[in-house]
Amino acid sequence: MMDYQIKRSSRSLSLRLSINAQGKVVVSAPKFMPEFMIRKFVEAQKDWIESNLAKVQKNQVKIKTDELYIFDKKYQVVTNHNASRMGVLVQGEQILVNNLSKKTPTKIQQQIEDFLKKTATKYISTRTAILAKQMKIKYKRISLREQSSRWGSCSSHGNLNFNWRLVHYAPAIIDYVIIHELAHRKEMNHSKKFWEIVRAHDSEYLIHKGQLRKKRYN
Ligand SMILES: [Zn+2]
Repeated sequence: MMDYQIKRSSRSLSLRLSINAQGKVVVSAPKFMPEFMIRKFVEAQKDWIESNLAKVQKNQVKIKTDELYIFDKKYQVVTNHNASRMGVLVQGEQILVNNLSKKTPTKIQQQIEDFLKKTATKYISTRTAILAKQMKIKYKRISLREQSSRWGSCSSHGNLNFNWRLVHYAPAIIDYVIIHELAHRKEMNHSKKFWEIVRAHDSEYLIHKGQLRKKRYN
């Protein structure tokens, strides 16, 4: 027997079926209609109910699987509309987005992106300083932006550029990209000599290079 909720109203003249956001079947019925008639009606609509329940449940799963990767670790994105102040924070396996009011999905997305950019900037500039010291290589400025196809670049003046989307990848892969760009300070090409410098600081660079190309986070 199907589970449903009856909503009686003196204003409704006929039976009407709906499914609410929680995935519950609701029947609007005239105030004095006998219950057996309502049950009969619901049973007759079984196919409609089942196909529409499936749709609602599919949408609920979509909200639940709103996830995102930081340093190759999976987090669930949870929006808190009753927060006392704005901000994004990592709590266990969740990314908590605090919103003062009900904002549009794009605004929440913007908050998450700003958080990711900040995290990437902090992490990549720290790692670059450490790796440059190990490689005995100097560089000038670091900037992070979202380049459509490149993970990093190095100008002839020694300015480094990284794609903040690298924040989704494992630390070893991010290190590879940094080592790659730093190596360009010595070799502005992809010669054998260049790859020797890369290998000297990342013995698994071929694996990391392959993973960077294969994995896609959005
Ligand atoms: Zn290169």
